[in-house]
Amino acid sequence: MEKLLALMLVLTLMTVSCGKSGGGSSSQESTADTVTTDNGTSTPVTTPEANSTVPAAALSFKTNVGYLSGFAAADEAKYNQAVAIVKKVVATEAFRTRVLNFTYSGSKAFVQNNGLTNEQIYQDILEAAETLTPAKNNTLDVGVKLYYEASTIVGYTSGSITFINVNTKFFNTYSANEVAGNLFHEWLHKLGYVHDSAATARRPYSVPYAIGYIIRDLGKSFI
Ligand SMILES: [Zn+2]
Repeated sequence: MEKLLALMLVLTLMTVSCGKSGGGSSSQESTADTVTTDNGTSTPVTTPEANSTVPAAALSFKTNVGYLSGFAAADEAKYNQAVAIVKKVVATEAFRTRVLNFTYSGSKAFVQNNGLTNEQIYQDILEAAETLTPAKNNTLDVGVKLYYEASTIVGYTSGSITFINVNTKFFNTYSANEVAGNLFHEWLHKLGYVHDSAATARRPYSVPYAIGYIIRDLGKSFI
C-alpha cells in the first residue's frame, strides 16, 4: 500500500500531456497559478427509470467547472454544452455498464487502474474526490484555461494544479461531445489516473482515455 501511494505521488508530480493520437509525447511546463473561480454550470437532475440500476450518486452527479482564461462568449456556450453532456452521460445506465464491463486483453479491468476494479473506479468517479480537493462531494471540480498551440496536444494538466489546459486548435473543431470526452479525460487525471505519454498499444485502455471515449461516444446522443 505504501508502495502504491509512493508511486501515485511520483506520478501525480509528473505533468501529463494528452495527445490526440501518436507522437504527442512532449511534456509541458505548467504554470503555478492555481486560482479557481466558480462560474460553473448545472443541469437539472435526471429522473431515474423505474427499473434503473443507476445509483443515486450517478443521478445527483454535479459539475463545478470554472472558466479561468481564454474564453470568449461562444467558447463558454460550447463548454457549457459539453459540461451538460458529461452530467447526462454519467447519469445513464449505459455509462455504468460500459465502465463496469470494460475489458482489456481478456480481463475485466482498465490499464493503469491504480489497483482498482472497474466497480471501484466507477465509485471513485461518483465520489469525485480530486487529489488536490479530496472531499467526496459528488462533484466534478475543475478549472479550464484555453490556449493555442500548433501541436498534437489536445490538452494537458499536472498533479500540482486544479485546472486543465485545453488547446483551441482542437477545441475549435471539436463537437460538444468531443469536448465533453476531453474534459472528462483531463478530470480523471485530477482523480489520480495516468496513462503512457507515448501512443502505446495499451494507452487507449487506460482510465483517462477509455472513459473519456465512453463519455464522448455516449454523449453523441445528447447533442
Ligand atoms: Zn491524459
